[in-house]
Amino acid sequence: MSSNPLKQPETCSIGVDGVRQRLHDAYGALEWWPADNPFEVMVGAILTQNTTWSNVELALQNFAGQLSPQFIDQIEPTALSQIIRPAGYYNQKAIYLKAVTAWFGHYNYDADQVKQQSLEHLRSELLAVRGVGPETADSILLYAFEMPTFVVDAYTMRLCRRLPIPAGTTYSAVRHYFMDRLPTSVALFNDFHAQIVNNAKDHCRAKPICEDCPLGDCCQRLGL
Ligand code: SF4
Repeated sequence: MSSNPLKQPETCSIGVDGVRQRLHDAYGALEWWPADNPFEVMVGAILTQNTTWSNVELALQNFAGQLSPQFIDQIEPTALSQIIRPAGYYNQKAIYLKAVTAWFGHYNYDADQVKQQSLEHLRSELLAVRGVGPETADSILLYAFEMPTFVVDAYTMRLCRRLPIPAGTTYSAVRHYFMDRLPTSVALFNDFHAQIVNNAKDHCRAKPICEDCPLGDCCQRLGL
């Protein structure tokens, strides 16, 4: 679709919180992350890099009930890479998993000990771990340790471009834009990120299905 700048507002008319509310009303509460414990969230956050969640599930199944920090710590990287092979980039990810597990080991593999630290401190530590970029760090902090940080992913960036939401073009800018405009709430950040991903899968795909999209009436559909 071609765009006519004379007819388009600079920003999505309902704002960031309006988008959140609209998606929540459409899809209901989404309870993320699909994991049994904080360590499984950490592992999933690494494994999901550059692959689909269905491949992550295949990799997780290969642990056959043995997934634990102690298991990752002790297993040889080459053996670990074969277990996680379905997730792709398995040699790299085996190294990343061992690195993030070593970080968790500084807290005796105890989520409660992790949570005693500040968000800023933990975020800075995680960003120094091999294989952990901002999206992975924020996913771990929000979904494993229930810290109030907003996760930005490719779906968030795409949504911002299309509505549009003038949040910027870098991870940091978009994260701050959302966090500055939303109540600081773990539950809200958790649900909103899940809603954005859900809508991206149902509607706002690379080739979007705009019909019946909950954001259809306020979306400028830029860049299509
Ligand atoms: S209306 Fe279309 S472009 Fe806009 S958010 Fe929905 S699916 Fe994406």
